[in-house]
Amino acid sequence: MRTWKWMLTASLMLTLTAVAQQSSDARHSQPSAASQPQAPQPGSQATPAPPKAAAPPTTMDQVVDRFIEREHGLMDMLKNRTPLVETYLQNLKADPQLGPVPKEDHYFLGRMDMSDIVDRRDYLTKEGGFQTKVLGGFTKLFKFEYQPMGFSWMVFADRNDFDRQHYDFRYVRREFLGDVRCLVFDVTPQKKSGKGRFLGRIWVEDQDFNIVRLNGTYAPAPRNGYFFHMDSWRLNLIPGYWVPAFIYSEEGDFSYGAKNETAFKAQTRLWGYNLRKNDKEDELTQVVVDSSVKDESAAAQDASPLAAQRLWQQQAEDNVIERLDRAGLLAPEGEVDKVLQTVVNNLQITNNVELQRPMKARVMLTSPLETFSVGNTIIVSRGLVDVLPDEASLAMVLSHELAHIILGHNLGSRYAFNDRMLFSDESTYQNFGFRHVPEEETAADKKAMDLLKNSPYAAKLDNASLFLKALAARGPALSALLTPHLGNSFVNAKGEVERMGALMTSGPALDMNKLDQISALPLGGRVKVNPWDDHAELIKTTPVAITSARDKMPFEVTPFFPRLTRMSGGGSTGNPTTAANAAPSN
Ligand SMILES: [Zn+2]
Repeated sequence: MRTWKWMLTASLMLTLTAVAQQSSDARHSQPSAASQPQAPQPGSQATPAPPKAAAPPTTMDQVVDRFIEREHGLMDMLKNRTPLVETYLQNLKADPQLGPVPKEDHYFLGRMDMSDIVDRRDYLTKEGGFQTKVLGGFTKLFKFEYQPMGFSWMVFADRNDFDRQHYDFRYVRREFLGDVRCLVFDVTPQKKSGKGRFLGRIWVEDQDFNIVRLNGTYAPAPRNGYFFHMDSWRLNLIPGYWVPAFIYSEEGDFSYGAKNETAFKAQTRLWGYNLRKNDKEDELTQVVVDSSVKDESAAAQDASPLAAQRLWQQQAEDNVIERLDRAGLLAPEGEVDKVLQTVVNNLQITNNVELQRPMKARVMLTSPLETFSVGNTIIVSRGLVDVLPDEASLAMVLSHELAHIILGHNLGSRYAFNDRMLFSDESTYQNFGFRHVPEEETAADKKAMDLLKNSPYAAKLDNASLFLKALAARGPALSALLTPHLGNSFVNAKGEVERMGALMTSGPALDMNKLDQISALPLGGRVKVNPWDDHAELIKTTPVAITSARDKMPFEVTPFFPRLTRMSGGGSTGNPTTAANAAPSN
């Protein structure tokens, strides 16, 4: 039995290594996980019916009428949806060698109500209240203040007045975006049509005439305010509709003489469209936790004290996983989990670790770099999987959590009480927490080093060491990315790397200018998420050669360039890669 398991994990490991090397055998021949029919998630809504087919337009004027109509159709379809929206922003400064590099960062996570005006409620509460409904953009008073809503503004060109009375549309040309042939239009607001109108370019696919990309800004700006520039992408995730998925924003540059005080770049991601609307009314009927604990002992009898303790922990684990799922924070079980589980298995088998229950691994959909474990489930954030340079670094991250589990550092058993699951999705971070005391952190690091030493990763830890060194170098500028919301941080209050610190004393010295040294990848380089059903899968990208130190962009935000594809029979999703995700790992 053991031999068979080991072979299975070995072959999975090869798959992961191939992915980690960003090999060029680009596309899966199998249908992607995201495109297979899936059991509905807890609290998911029915998929909307596709719009009725219409006769193809014969003139450009008819095309304009059609995409205006389709845009209103999209707003209507999304009006009872409340997707999660995450914005991660890096302020930039000029570095003589590396070009623009982050000097500080900001993070916003909320749930957007698309019913009337685009509104969002935030998962993170901060003083001053970020729940403002101020028009997108940021106000210039004494300092710049980012309005998180501003970043999600460009999900639609114009929520209220997208029509011929307010805009002029000028056909530019045809152009392919990925596999999709598009008609390109420049859009300008008409004189006296009011403030904050869309100004820029749209791409309209030439079958149903949905807008698939918007690029531009809003004009004119209000007094004391700015609108930033945005590039907004949609994906064909349900029949007949293209759903807003990614928005890239960027301001400022470092050309000679340019004032760079406002320079920043930001990624906004949307997901969780298919989650049930989080209204207070049905909250209590929804939150009935159906514990899946089964007593599988041969003799039907009461649990022994130790067995009861384990069942109790299992119950807490099930509760927490289900609650995170329903809040839209976890990807449904899938392909990425299997890769994580494979690495955990490799660590377990080579260390002869036998646990009472099998280990599981799940992906949290957010960007901040964090891991934590609940019972026997290890949870790793999407952002962390994105930036890790190779499989051994992933093993480094997972070994720490596995160590907690082996050492019996069980957290969260208080969540076996179901009343503790009764809170609004937005207050998840206030109601859940899985942080260990410093003594347990130290013990887990020590145990993790032992696990790694006996594992297939023992001789491959140079990149893991470089990753931690890069984290130490970039950490002070990336406090938002390094602020965990549920687990322990990689760094202490002073911004020094604490997690697995022993690895920092070995391995090569970090040299950002060395082209063959890849310490960390840009965000968005590994995991793609289907914004409709939240499934996560690994990205297959063609490698792009790194030609200068500026190409490495560790932990950085880059523009989005998803490869657009139409949903066909079985359905396929866009391939949201970013422009700079193809750094080699070795
Ligand atoms: Zn820990």
